[in-house]
Amino acid sequence: MAKKILIVGGGYAGFYTAWKLEKLLRAGEAEVTIVDPLPYMAYLPFLPEVASGSIEPRHAVVARRRHLKTTANIAGKVTGISHATKTATVTPNAGEPFEFAYDHIVVTTGSVSRTFPIAGIADNAIGMKTIEEAVAVRDRLVGNFERASSLPKGSAERARLLTVTVVGGGFAGIETISELRSFATSLLRRYPEISFDETVFHLVEAMGRIMPEVSQQTADWVVKDQTRRGVQIHLDTQLSSAVGGKIELSTGEHFESDLIVWTAGVMPRPFLRGTDLPIGPRGHVIGSPTLRITTEDGEALEGAWTAGDTSQVPDISPTPGPGGFCVPNAQHAVRQGKLLAKNIAADLRGEGVREYNHKNKGAVAGLGVNTGVFQSGKFAMKGYFAWLAHRFYHGLAIPSWERKWRVFGGWVGHFFLGRDIVGIEAVQQPREIFEEFAARPKA
Ligand SMILES: Cc1cc2nc3c(=O)[nH]c(=O)nc-3n(C[C@H](O)[C@H](O)[C@H](O)COP(=O)(O)OP(=O)(O)OC[C@H]3O[C@@H](n4cnc5c(N)ncnc54)[C@H](O)[C@@H]3O)c2cc1C
Repeated sequence: MAKKILIVGGGYAGFYTAWKLEKLLRAGEAEVTIVDPLPYMAYLPFLPEVASGSIEPRHAVVARRRHLKTTANIAGKVTGISHATKTATVTPNAGEPFEFAYDHIVVTTGSVSRTFPIAGIADNAIGMKTIEEAVAVRDRLVGNFERASSLPKGSAERARLLTVTVVGGGFAGIETISELRSFATSLLRRYPEISFDETVFHLVEAMGRIMPEVSQQTADWVVKDQTRRGVQIHLDTQLSSAVGGKIELSTGEHFESDLIVWTAGVMPRPFLRGTDLPIGPRGHVIGSPTLRITTEDGEALEGAWTAGDTSQVPDISPTPGPGGFCVPNAQHAVRQGKLLAKNIAADLRGEGVREYNHKNKGAVAGLGVNTGVFQSGKFAMKGYFAWLAHRFYHGLAIPSWERKWRVFGGWVGHFFLGRDIVGIEAVQQPREIFEEFAARPKA
C-alpha cells in the first residue's frame, strides 16, 4: 500500500519537499498531498521589488499545479492535527471540513508578522509578508502620488500622503524602505507637481543597528547610503503609537504617515498550539537536526517532520545563529525541504536519515535599482555590483526555468523601457464601478 504523505503548507519548505519527493519516490511508494489555501508558492525575497514596480506580482509566485506533476493539491487550511491518531482536519476554501488520514505529516506552515500591542498598528499598518500586501503597497504609493499632486502645496494632507514609515530594520524592512524610496524618486520625474523634499521616508528600528545578518561596517554603509538617498533612519527608537496614521516615536518625534509598513519580526502560526504536536516556548514546532518533530526531551515522533520558519531546528553548523536554532530564512527553508524529502524517502525504505548541517553562505540584499549589499563572512560588496549579485542570485534561485525567464525578462524590459509606474489601486474594489451603474429591479 502506498504511504500517505501530507504536507501542510506549500511555501518554500513545503514546495521543495514535494518537488524533491517527486524525483525520489518510486512508483506506488507513496502519495503526496499538499494542503495550502494559496495556489502558489510565494518567492518572498521579491516582495520589496514587487512593491516598487521592479517585478510583476505574478512572476514572483510559482504555481504548484504547473510545477508539481504528481503531488495532489487541496486548496484549504489544516486547522487541526491529531498526531496520536495520525489525522489532520482540513478546512477547504469551499465545502465542509474533513479528516485526512496520513502516515507521514510535514509541517511547513511558515510564519506571519509578529506585532506588539501598539495603538493604531492593527488598524493602520500593513505587513510585507504576502504578495497581496506588496501589490497593495505599490498601488497605495502610486495612488498617494496622484492624490497629493492635486492638493495644495504645504497642506497637512499632502504631507501625510507623501510620508512613508517602515517599522523594523532587518533585511525585509531595509529592502522595503530602500526599494520604496527608489521607486518614489523615479516617480518624481512623472509628477512634476511634487518635489523630492516633500517625499519623506522613515525607518524605525528599536535596536542600535540595522541588518544583523551583515557586519557592523556594512550596516553602517547602508545607513549612510540610504540617508543620502532620502531615508530618515531612526535607530534606538520605538514606535509608540500610530493611531489614525499619527506616528509617535519614543524619542518624542511625531509626524503623520499614510503608508505604514510593519516588518519588525515574524512568528509561527498560532493554530499549531491547538494541535498535539510539541511546541517550543516561542510557538515553533520542535524539530531535530534530522527534521523529525521531537518532544521537548528529544524523543522523535514517528512519521512527523518539520522545516522552515515554523520549526525550531537546532543549528549544528560551525557558526550557529542566535539562540542556537536555524534562523527563519529562505536558505534554510529550501535546503531543509530538500533534505526532508530525502529523509522521508530513506525512512520509507528503512534506511538511515541525515542531519541538517548547513553553513550560512552569506546574505545579499537589493536596496533599490542599482544599489545593494552582499556579505559572506568578512567579505563584503556594496553598491552596483552587489545589486547585480542580488539580481543574479535571486533571479536564478526562484524555482523553475519558466519563472526565471519571466523575472529576467521583466528586468530586461525595465532596463530598456524604464520601470513600470502604473498603479491599479481600483483592483482592491473591483466591483465599485459595476455596482455604481448596475440596473436594479424596482422595489
Ligand atoms: C520581504 C521578505 C524578504 C525576504 N528576503 C529573504 C532573503 O533575501 N533571503 C532569505 O534567505 N530569506 C528571505 N526571507 C525569508 C524567507 O522568505 C522565509 O524564511 C521563507 O519563506 C520561509 O519558508 P517557509 O516554507 O517556512 O514559509 P512560507 O514560504 O511562508 O510558506 C508557508 C506556507 O504555508 C501555508 N500555510 C500557512 N498556514 C497553513 C495552514 N494552516 N494550512 C495549510 N497551509 C498553510 C501558507 O499559505 C504558505 O504558502 C524574506 C522574507 C520576507 C517576508
